[in-house]
Amino acid sequence: MNEFSLIAEYFSDCGHSQYATELGIGDDAAIVSLSKDEQLVMTMDTLIEGVHFPVSTCAADIALKSLAVNLSDLAAMGAEPAWFLLSLSLPEVDQTWLKAFADSLKQQAELYAIRLIGGDTCKGALSITIQATGVIQQTAIRRSTAQLGDHIFVSGKLGAAALGLASVQNKLKLADDEAKDYIEALNRPTARFDISRIVKLYAHSMIDLSDGLLADLGHILNASHCGAELYLDAIPMPFCVRNLAQFEYSLTGGDDYELCFT
Ligand code: ADP
Ligand code: MG
Repeated sequence: MNEFSLIAEYFSDCGHSQYATELGIGDDAAIVSLSKDEQLVMTMDTLIEGVHFPVSTCAADIALKSLAVNLSDLAAMGAEPAWFLLSLSLPEVDQTWLKAFADSLKQQAELYAIRLIGGDTCKGALSITIQATGVIQQTAIRRSTAQLGDHIFVSGKLGAAALGLASVQNKLKLADDEAKDYIEALNRPTARFDISRIVKLYAHSMIDLSDGLLADLGHILNASHCGAELYLDAIPMPFCVRNLAQFEYSLTGGDDYELCFT
């Protein structure tokens, strides 16, 4: 049973609300509305040490990535960042670590104009959960509204983060300066609001690339009941991927947090 069939089987129909749910489980974020012209967009992601980031990752990068992956889901909906909640599970109180984590979180929160308004702190294995809320004034860009004949776009080169992970795990030997760039892509992703703010005026559908192009474009296609034809040589890839002809880094590698839209 994969993540998606598990969610569909056990959590797809849970409770009801007297307030309007515009979009529930199944997209990058949920959409709720209290009034006609403004909608709230909500998403949540957990990062666990050794699963979602290498054990060697520094506190500043962990904070940056925890926020960026959530912001990326807001960007993918065409939403603007507003507030977030932070749930921290820490094995110990290490003040040097906490200072570096908090400074980086604050810097990123300022950069993206999002405010921390609550959360939870407990003792346990290192794990960071962020719930982010954004606002939409016009219409959200969903996964389910791609149209026949649409062109498929991505916002940057795909596969850099997967190359970085392979390099950290010593599965791939790269030149030092090259490895540095790819590890930076893995540890310090950018939420692409620069792209989404423009694209949301035109795109029929959009998703962020957390699990790799084939998987995430697959979500658009399934939700929109469409198929796609991809041209390998048209997919933007880091130089290193073309060189190695290891295209799976760009097709199935996760963690790039670029946007894919049609
Ligand atoms: P993303 O990769 O964009 O962060 P996910 O793959 O984590 O999205 O989740 C897919 C969808 O399933 C989202 O709409 C998410 O809110 C929902 N979801 C994930 N886990 C759960 C859960 N335990 N209960 C309810 N909904 C969930
Ligand atoms: Mg997403």
